[in-house]
Formats: sequence, C-alpha cells, structure tokens
Amino acid sequence: MKIISSPQLLQEEIIKLKRKGNTIGFVPTMGYLHDGHLSLIRRARKDCDVVVVSIFVNPLQFGPREDLKKYPRNFKKDSALCKKYTDILFYPNVREMYPDDFLTEIEVNKLSNVLCGASRPGHFKGVATVVNKLFNIIFPDMAYFGQKDAQQAVIIKKMVKDLNIPADIKVMPTVREKDGLAMSSRNSYLSRQERGDAAVLYRSLILAKNMVKKGATDSNKIISKMRNLILNKKSAKIDYISIVNPETLDPLKKMNKQALVLLAVFVGKTRLIDNILIRR
Ligand code: AMP
Repeated sequence: MKIISSPQLLQEEIIKLKRKGNTIGFVPTMGYLHDGHLSLIRRARKDCDVVVVSIFVNPLQFGPREDLKKYPRNFKKDSALCKKYTDILFYPNVREMYPDDFLTEIEVNKLSNVLCGASRPGHFKGVATVVNKLFNIIFPDMAYFGQKDAQQAVIIKKMVKDLNIPADIKVMPTVREKDGLAMSSRNSYLSRQERGDAAVLYRSLILAKNMVKKGATDSNKIISKMRNLILNKKSAKIDYISIVNPETLDPLKKMNKQALVLLAVFVGKTRLIDNILIRR
C-alpha cells in the first residue's frame, strides 16, 4: 500500500494507472476506521483493479461549535487496518487540500437544507465540496458510501448526476454492533451508560418497521411511538425523527411503498444518526 499525501502526486499516479486500463474504486473516509468503513473497502477490492482510500477530517463540514478538534484520529491503526485491501491511502493535510487562497464551494440545494442539514448549517456544502475535490484528484470509476449516512448518499448521487461526474456511486448497507447500534467513529465518545442507552436508536427504527408491518400508515403516529421509546433513556435528546421519500427527502405524511425513516439523537453530548428503509 502506497501512502500519498500530495493531491498533485496522487492525481499523476492515478492518471498513469488509468492509462494502463485500471479501474479505480474509491472510499472517502474521515478515518478512525471500523467495520463499516472496511465493508466499503472490501467491496471496492472486489469490484475494481485499484482501491484508493482517503483519510481526511474535512474541516469544511464541521460547524464552529462542533467536534472538529476532538474528532478521533489514529492513523497508525487505520493504515494497518486497510492495508490488506488498499493500494493507495490518500492522507492529505488541511493546507494541501485547502490552501489559503481556496475559494470554491459546491452546494446541492434543497437536499442539503433539511434533516441533518437543518441542524448542521453548511455541513453538506462541506461534504459536497470535499467529495467533488477528491473525485477530481482520484477520477474513481466507482465510489463507495454507507447507507448509515443516508442523506449524504442522496446528496452525492444528486451532485454526480447534476454535474455529469463519470463515477458510479455505490451505497452499502449499514454495519451494526451486536445490539444494533450503527458503527460510527463517534461511538468512541460515549460513556458506558450512554453506550448502553444508544442501542435504543436502532430499536426505535425496528419499532417503526414492525408498526408498518402490522399496517400502520400514519407517519406522525409512528414517530410519536419512536419518540416515547427513545425518551425512556435519560441520556437521550432527540434532534429529529423524520419519515421521508428516500430520493427527494420530502416528508411523507403516510407511509408509501418505500419510506426512509431517519433520526438524529444526542446521547449525552454525542450526536448520533441512523436510519432504516422500509418497503411496504
Ligand atoms: P466517515 O469516516 O464517518 O466520514 O464515513 C466514511 C464512509 O463510511 C461514509 O460513506 C459512511 O457512510 C460510511 N460508514 C460509516 N459508518 C458506517 C457503517 N456503520 N456502515 C456502513 N458504512 C458506514
């Protein structure tokens, strides 16, 4: 595995590899890798000739009062974890990605302003900008994202379509802990008590799924039951629970053939997100 930190050197290396006819699979991450990330990397290994993983804690996607400084980092462990499946590990620093004279932003309107975008203004602009930049350095044939960040996946797909970016976006299932908690680098912030409480997020999504299975159609009723279940945990504070069209992210009053149930919940001070796609 080659470790490259310069965007320009990586771009030159990729151009050479592509000229030789290699397909490029790309997995963007912010590091502190877990099995969720590794599931994407393994899939890229299966699909593509060359696997590129990036580790970059992107300051553009953090709000001024968010956890940029304390975001967990462990490059040594990360590089050991992805070595087996990765050809190139891209590990740029902030100055290399955003020199002082950097001015450009990419914004996917509408989709970026709802759900997590409403609670985290500017977040998805930061995500779209960095992913666009990474795509222009790496020219991936396929790029892998997790369903865990469902809104992010919808936004990236829309950006790729709108801007004619020649990358195939693959969205992979959420990898979970034994008790259902979606794996996340931020789970490392949780105290023992909070970690136990956090399992209620997935339980509430399963509750929604079971209600629909039994014939429930009214989104508000489903959300209200989920809310009650989550608020049984003292450490939990709900940011939002929403039931939406999985492509447009428009709220659904009634359950459709397909509905995406999403939530963001503070467990202690840690903001966790999760979602489930329900088909009737
Ligand atoms: P992050 O490092 O949190 O920015 O995540 C990098 C990529 O891994 C994103 O596409 C995430 O959606 C994906 N990812 C994070 N957690 C999981 C998980 N538990 N299961 C599947 N994919 C995940």
